[in-house]
Amino acid sequence: MAVRRRSSCWGSIACLPPVLEKDQVSFLTFFQNSLNPDGSYKWSWSLDHSGVYTVSSLQKYIDNRTLPRSDAVWNWNPLVPGKVNILAWRTSHKRLPCMENLYKIGISSSDLCQMCHEATESVDHIFVGCPISKEAWAQVCNWWRLLGNYPSNCMELLKCKESLGGHNRLERIHEAIMLGFLWVIWRYRNNKSHRSNQTTGSKFTLPFEVQSLSYLWINARIRKGRKLRWLEWCCDPILECYGRM
Ligand SMILES: [Zn+2]
Repeated sequence: MAVRRRSSCWGSIACLPPVLEKDQVSFLTFFQNSLNPDGSYKWSWSLDHSGVYTVSSLQKYIDNRTLPRSDAVWNWNPLVPGKVNILAWRTSHKRLPCMENLYKIGISSSDLCQMCHEATESVDHIFVGCPISKEAWAQVCNWWRLLGNYPSNCMELLKCKESLGGHNRLERIHEAIMLGFLWVIWRYRNNKSHRSNQTTGSKFTLPFEVQSLSYLWINARIRKGRKLRWLEWCCDPILECYGRM
């Protein structure tokens, strides 16, 4: 039984080199041969200090090698759902299936923006450069007055809370609203890309969707303090946030 398990283990490890070739990872070089005090040889895995092969050590190595290096570190915002945090992480690493990326790998024959059809659909264009996003962002800023300056790229958008240093709760709410904007624009873009115009909804409702979704998300996750009130949230959200702290 023990032999069968070992053989199964080595069988699965033996399948790894061809799989890793596409990432240009030379798997076998991480196994090093050394001499034991008793004169026998032993193999050790160089990516882990214990010398034992682990999937996590290999995964860490591949991530460090393949993921883009940048200052794009995304800190999880607890006021919005996990799927929205994941969208933010993918946006910060430019890992979204936008038309520019799909065109580069030959999946799409066009790289035009699915919302405005006027420019190349990069990640920055979807959330920052597209006229539809700009219009929605301006409306959101009118409502949530702390989002004043228009960002020039996604990283500026994702770092919007830095302007509110020192107000932890307000920072998170501020960021949650920005994340609501990100989610609403991405959903609208996907609907435009995959559905007919009748089912995509109107671009004029995007600011309202940011307002209502962020309200629902935040209220569902507030554990300490009073919940936000809808009418006050719509009329003067900053005053409502300060009043509830
Ligand atoms: Zn566009």
